[in-house]
Amino acid sequence: MAAPDAASVPTLSSLGLTPHRPLVLVDVDEVLGLFMQGFGAYLAAQGLEFRVDRFALFQNIYRPGAAEHLEMAEGKKLFDAFFAGHCDTIEPAPGAIAALNRLARSAEILILSNAPPQAERLRTAWLRKHGLEHPLILNSGPKGPIAAALVGQTAHRTAFVDDLLPNLDSVAEHAPATATFQHVADLRLQPLAPRSDRHPRIDDWAELVEAIERAVRA
Ligand SMILES: [Mg+2]
Repeated sequence: MAAPDAASVPTLSSLGLTPHRPLVLVDVDEVLGLFMQGFGAYLAAQGLEFRVDRFALFQNIYRPGAAEHLEMAEGKKLFDAFFAGHCDTIEPAPGAIAALNRLARSAEILILSNAPPQAERLRTAWLRKHGLEHPLILNSGPKGPIAAALVGQTAHRTAFVDDLLPNLDSVAEHAPATATFQHVADLRLQPLAPRSDRHPRIDDWAELVEAIERAVRA
């Protein structure tokens, strides 16, 4: 993927962040918030079943009792509708809010979420509802290019947290000095989510916040 157009990447100061402290980029779904649980509840309200029996998304949506999952296009439609109208209903991941509040004492925090553009209003409202005043950037595709453009604006140490290995690998490739951490919040997903020796896997936020603090300490 090409580097994002420099003009399209906001400056840290325009986001209300200072380049004079470490910078931590944090994902939302399955990191700060229990997306699978919330999306599952939304699907159940539509009379559908969300079976978390593999690390997938659209392939996990079924009509009740069906052996074959829903068409991918139909799953995508439900996914978009969830983000447009319901993504503020998800529960915070256990320990996530307290961990971010602690981290904010020593680092700048930027929320970097891969979600459709129509999620912006509700996703921002969700963060504020839980007392998280940090700026939000919605991205699509691998997160390395935008992460590199953001961390390139600070001379301080930087870290990145995500549940998905493609995003973690992308950041490791584009911003090799940034410490990467994998966190999978959903208890049902934890045993299913692939892990990699490249990125410490820490599913407990109390432990993760300490590891991040160690990584960004000057
Ligand atoms: Mg995620």
